[in-house]
Parts: sequence; C-alpha cells; structure tokens
Amino acid sequence: MTARIPPGPRLLLERLAEAGYEAHLVGGCVRDLLRGAEPQDWDICTSALPQQTRACFANFPLLETGIRHGTVAVGVDGVFYEITTYRRDGPYSDGRRPDAVSFVPDLTQDLARRDFTINAMALDLDGALHDPFGGRADLAAGVVRCVGEPERRFQEDGLRLLRALRFSACLDFAIHPATAAAIARTLPMLDRVAAERIQTELRKLIVGPRRAQVLREFPQVLCRFWPQLEPLVGLEQHNPHHCYGGWEHTLHALAAAPAEEVICLAVLLHDIGKPPCKTTDEAGIDHFYGHPAVSAQLADQMLRALKFDNATRERVVALVERHDAPIHPTEKSVRRWLGRLGEEAFFQLLEVKRCDCLGQDPRLSEERLAATRALKDLARQVIAQGQCFSLKDLAVNGRDVLAAGVPAGPQVGRALAELLDQVVAGTLPNDKAALLQALPHLPIDP
Ligand code: ATP
Ligand code: MG
Repeated sequence: MTARIPPGPRLLLERLAEAGYEAHLVGGCVRDLLRGAEPQDWDICTSALPQQTRACFANFPLLETGIRHGTVAVGVDGVFYEITTYRRDGPYSDGRRPDAVSFVPDLTQDLARRDFTINAMALDLDGALHDPFGGRADLAAGVVRCVGEPERRFQEDGLRLLRALRFSACLDFAIHPATAAAIARTLPMLDRVAAERIQTELRKLIVGPRRAQVLREFPQVLCRFWPQLEPLVGLEQHNPHHCYGGWEHTLHALAAAPAEEVICLAVLLHDIGKPPCKTTDEAGIDHFYGHPAVSAQLADQMLRALKFDNATRERVVALVERHDAPIHPTEKSVRRWLGRLGEEAFFQLLEVKRCDCLGQDPRLSEERLAATRALKDLARQVIAQGQCFSLKDLAVNGRDVLAAGVPAGPQVGRALAELLDQVVAGTLPNDKAALLQALPHLPIDP
C-alpha cells in the first residue's frame, strides 16, 4: 500500500523524520489508500510546530495562509501539500474555521478531533497504521460513524451533518445508527454553517453513487438550508403519468442520472415548483401547469443562497426551465435547439428528460424514453453532418456582411441573426453566394 505513495509526500515525510519530528499521512488519503481508491490530496500531520515545519522546508515554495491554524503548504514539483501540526480545535463560532486551535503533543489527540472514524487514521511510510477509533473496521463494514459522541461532534460543527451524508453517498456506506440519530437531533446546527462550506459538500454528495438513498433517508438535512424543498417532499401527485409522490419521483430520476454535477442538480430541482402550481380537476387528477418556470425561479434562488458560481447556476436554471419543453423530432427543430442552448447544454437537457421519464410510471414512460433517444441520435447526426445551427457554422461572417454594403453597427448583428434563422429553418442554403444574394432583402433596418 505504501508503494502507492507518490514521491512528493514521501519526500516531505522523510525530511520531517530526518529532522526528528513525527510525521504521517492522515485523513482522506489514508482512507482512500486502504479502500484501494486514488487519493484526491495528500495531507500530512506532524509533531513539528508550524515554525519548525517552515524551517525544515526553507528552500521550498511555501504557502503560509493557514499558519495560524497550524498548516503550512509546501510545494514539491509544482504541487502543494498541506502539513498540519497535531492540534485540537476550539469552537467554530463563525461556522468556517475554529476560533482557536491549540497544538497538542500527540497524534491520537489530533485524530480525535477528526469527524468520522474512516477519516481519523494516520499512516507511516513503513506501513504502520494508527487507528485508535476503529476506522479500518468501519471502512471494511462500510460505515460512517462519528469519532466520539455523535451529538457532541455535530454540536461542535454543523457541517459534519452534511459531511456524513456526503461520505455515505460517495462511498456507498451506511450511516451508523447512533450517528444517524444524532443528525436528526442536531439539524439546527446547520443554520450557522457558511453557505460556501455547505456548497462544497453538496456538490460532492449530489454526484455520489448512493445520493438517492441518502436523500430519501435524510431529506430534512437539505430542507434545513433549502426550505423550498420541503413542500416537494410531502407532495402527492394523483396523475396517470406518476406512480410516485413528488419527492420519490425526484429521487428515482436522480438515481438514473449520470454523475455529472449540473445534471444532478437540475434533476434534483426540476420539480421544485410543482407544489405552488398544483391544481386538481373534477376527475380528481392533479395538474402542475407552469411548474417549470416556477421551478427555475426557485432553483435560481436556492443556488444563489449557497453562492454557486454563475456558470453552474445559469446552466442548472436553464435545464430546469426547459425540462418539460416539447422538442419536435425533426432536423430543423433540433438545429434550433442546438443553436439556442449549444451542444453541451442540449445533450444535458436530453439527459434531464431521460431521468425525468425514468422517475415516472415505467409502463407509461417507454414511449417518451424512445422519443428522447431518437432526439439524441438526431442531434448527433446533425452535428456529424456539419449542419449549421450557430453563427460560427454560418458561411458568412461580419466582415462579409460589411463588405457587401451593410453599414457598420447593430445591423450587422441583425443581418447575421436573420441569415442564421433562415439557414436553420431550411429556407436558405448555408452557402456564401446564396446568403450574400439574400442580404439586400432581409428586414434589418433599424
Ligand atoms: P476528500 O477525499 O473528498 O478530500 P477528505 O476526507 O480528505 O475527503 P477533506 O474535507 O479534504 O476531506 O478533509 C480532510 C480531513 O480533515 C478529513 O479526512 C478529516 O479527517 C478532517 N476534517 C475535515 N473537515 C472536518 C470537519 N468539519 N470536522 C472534523 N474533521 C474534519
Ligand atoms: Mg481531502
């Protein structure tokens, strides 16, 4: 197992040991090495105080932004590794970082501050494993369990509730019963956690293989920071297309999604606007007219609240808004959609639609699934044939249009848009001479 430790961290561990300090790999990388997965990052903990670590690596590039919390990042071959002094954390009153940390002399105390047993192990270069809380056994059994008394650990830092769900979703592990019970009792702790920290964990949770089961078991954790979810969790839908309530439908759809962040978020939020749009007709059938637009509005609000970046938020909102839009299975209509959304978003939309079908009554969704598959084939064909659906595919550009006598200014853009429109519609061929010939007849005057 130690053979898989790369040269960078190896060198750092050796240097610290040569200088007379204890040093170990710790946390996520040890867990991942033990379960045979590729570690994301290589964290080191040491008995050396931050100044001593710094002195040890005087000739290396150093990042000292975390030094007050005991962390020095050392660069080896362009990669920075975090080396943290054994420490105990004070309270996290700002929900971001502990108010104060105190350095402690021994490894076991450092491991005791860590969240879950599977994350509280340290490994040495010679293969010795330090595992005072039974992390290895929990890893083998597939269990997420708090180090120490769960309720107290969640009271210290509310983010740990969400981290428990994240590790359960990503590792496909069960949450230990006492840890699960403590989650239910400490939900208000999430109110104090910074939005950015919640976002980071949620992004990982949502693509984890066990996400749907975890959300089925713990919807109240997400509802705590996203109260807009709550009505969906209780939504009944008496409608021939649906054999599930709103939440169960969402979870079935989510389980079918590829592990791609924007698709998973869009699927999670696609029906969030259903509850306020619900009406029931005389026959007792529920309808949700206009729900995609309401879903999009709520999704926008929810992603803003967690401070998601604009690109992710806008893409998710666009997918949610169009999840129910009819797309005609013709080349012309597919060209229009490809032009409007771009290739990537269009294929993502087809995925969202596919997942939506898979969350419905299987006897009724087959036809809609086949339609989605046909659209995907059609779009692939339109692209493979080099058909024109965006300005960059058009046989003329701004310079051509100017040279043909269109005056500089907004008319150039309007002329190109009009030509593209006609090419996409099939009323003009994508041919330079033909397009320039059509130019004088276009309605582009201001
Ligand atoms: P990943 O592989 O996704 O990075 P990780 O276990 O490395 O998972 P990090 O968030 O990178 O998770 O944290 C590194 C280690 O720090 C964890 O393994 C855990 O030991 C400890 N840790 C992180 N966050 C907390 C927390 N909120 N409370 C207690 N310990 C924590
Ligand atoms: Mg990590």
